[in-house]
Amino acid sequence: MTVSAIDRYRIGRNPQPPVLVAEQLDSFIAGMRTESPYVLGFPGNLDFSYSRFGGLLDILTNNVGDPGSDEKSGISSKAMERAVVEATAELANAQAEATFGYVASGGSEANQFGLDRGCTYLPDARVFCSSATHYSVVKNVRLMRRELAILPADQLGRMDVAALERECRKDRGRGAVVVANAGTTMTGAIDDVAAVVEAAGSAGRVYVHLDAALSGLILPFTEQASSWGFAHPAVGSLGMSMHKLLGMPVPCAVALCRTEFVQAPPVSEYIGITDSTLSCSRSGLAASLIWYAMAVRGAIGLERTAHSALKRAQYISDRLVDLGLRTLVNPNSIIVVFDRPAEWICRKYHLATEADVAHIVALPHITSEVIDELCDDLAKSRARLRGTGADPYRVDHHTAV
Ligand SMILES: *Cc1c(COP(=O)(O)O)cnc(C)c1O
Repeated sequence: MTVSAIDRYRIGRNPQPPVLVAEQLDSFIAGMRTESPYVLGFPGNLDFSYSRFGGLLDILTNNVGDPGSDEKSGISSKAMERAVVEATAELANAQAEATFGYVASGGSEANQFGLDRGCTYLPDARVFCSSATHYSVVKNVRLMRRELAILPADQLGRMDVAALERECRKDRGRGAVVVANAGTTMTGAIDDVAAVVEAAGSAGRVYVHLDAALSGLILPFTEQASSWGFAHPAVGSLGMSMHKLLGMPVPCAVALCRTEFVQAPPVSEYIGITDSTLSCSRSGLAASLIWYAMAVRGAIGLERTAHSALKRAQYISDRLVDLGLRTLVNPNSIIVVFDRPAEWICRKYHLATEADVAHIVALPHITSEVIDELCDDLAKSRARLRGTGADPYRVDHHTAV
C-alpha cells in the first residue's frame, strides 16, 4: 500500500530516531537526483555543486536591510552581495555608482520591487504589460491595487506596441509604468524597449521595468550587449533570476534600480539599518552562492555558459525539426518551443506546456543522451498515433523562424 506524501513526512509529537529521519532525507535527495536529468521544461540550470557551502549550513547568514548598510548583528554576506550587484549592474549597462540593487528571493520579488518604484514615481499611471508577461506581474499589480492593462503579444511573444500606443493615448498626463520583457517565460521573446517607450509617450512620463529573469545572463553576451537593459534611459529597474541560467540550490534573483528612484529608505533603529528592499531578513546564503558562482566563472565563464546554452537550443531545435516537428527559437533565446507531444512525454521530461505548445529550456544539465532518448520517445509516440490516424502536430500558430 502506498502512503500519501504527507503521511510519509508527518511530524509527530515524539522525536523520531535521527537515523530514520536521515534515511528519509537521503531517499528524498536520491529521488531528486534521479529526476533532475529529465527536467527539460523549466528554466533552472541543475548542473552545479555547492557542497563546499556545507559550513554555511551551520550558521545563519542574514543580510538584513540594504546591502550597503552595516547592520548591528554583523553576521551577513553583504560585501559579497555588493560585489554581485556591481557585477550584474555592469552586465545590464548600469553605472554601478548610480544603481541600487540587492539579492531578492526570486524574479517575482525583483518584479515587485521594480513595479513599486515605478508606481511610486508615477502615482497616477496605469501599469501596462503584454499577455506574454510572467504572472507575477499580475499578482504584484494586484497587491498594489493599481490598474493593469494587458496588451496582446504577437506570435513570437513580443508586446503589440500599436495596442500600447492606443491605450496610452487615453492616459494623457497620467504617465505610464510599463513592464517590458527581455525573454518571456514561454517563448523567450524580447520586447523592443525603444518602441515601447515611444508608444507609451503620449501618456506623459514613462517608467519601464525590464523583466530579464532568464535572459539577463544571456543578452550581455550577444550583439545586444551594449544596447540592452539600462542603456535605455527609460528603464528604471530590472530583475534577473539567479537560479535559472546560473544554477542555484535556492531560488534567488538580483533586483536593480536607478538610485534616483530609491530615496528616503525606511530606517530600522532596532537593527541599525536603512532598508529599501521589500523584505527584512534576506538570504545571505543566496548572496554568497551567487557570488561564488559568478566569481569562479568570471565574465568569460558567464559568456561561455550563455553561448553554449544558445548553441544547445539550436541543436535541440534541429533535432526536433529532423523529426518533422515545428519549432520556434527566438533570437538570443535558449527556449525551444515546439508542438505539444503526448502527455506521458510531457510528464517524463517535465516539459512546460501552454495550450498546444511545449518548451525545452536548453540549460547546461541537459545532456545529448537525454535529447536522444526524448527524440526516440517522440518518434515512437508519433508512430503510435499515426496508427490511430490522429495527427498530434496540427498546431499552426507557432512557425519556425
Ligand atoms: C521565471 C520568471 C519570472 C519569475 O522568476 P522567479 O525567480 O521564479 O520568481 C519572472 N519573469 C519571467 C520572464 C520569468 O521567466
